Amino acid sequence: MITPADEKLLRRAVDLAARAVTLGDAPYGSLLAAPDGTVLAEAHNTVRRDDDITAHPELKLARWAASELDRETAARTTMYTSCQPCGMCAGALVRSGLGRVVFALSTEQLVALNPESGAWPTVPQDGPALFDAARGPIESYYGAKG
Ligand SMILES: [Zn+2]
Repeated sequence: MITPADEKLLRRAVDLAARAVTLGDAPYGSLLAAPDGTVLAEAHNTVRRDDDITAHPELKLARWAASELDRETAARTTMYTSCQPCGMCAGALVRSGLGRVVFALSTEQLVALNPESGAWPTVPQDGPALFDAARGPIESYYGAKG
């Protein structure tokens, strides 16, 4: 279940995706939040900038959580992300010990907006949500479809 408090943090993740586009990076953004909503860390996709195929924001934050948070804190921490994590990041999320992922666009919605994104395996997650807000950075980067 996605609450209004979740939606506020999810909008911030979508804003990070939009900001990534303005920086010339791919349109994906994520953040980690404590149970009280405090933002612990943020990231956006830097695959092109870093010439690193693993530089997805979800993977960077999973690595950060695994190294910076104790197990109990990680389990209480939620990732908010502009798109459903890909298979690579989903694996890292499981290993990070993070307790929950909330995403805006589902993989299915992302692929509908940009077929080249392809489909990925999934882990238990909440979404989709905020389609009207979350489609903005996707369409501004890839161009509106149909
Ligand atoms: Zn990924």
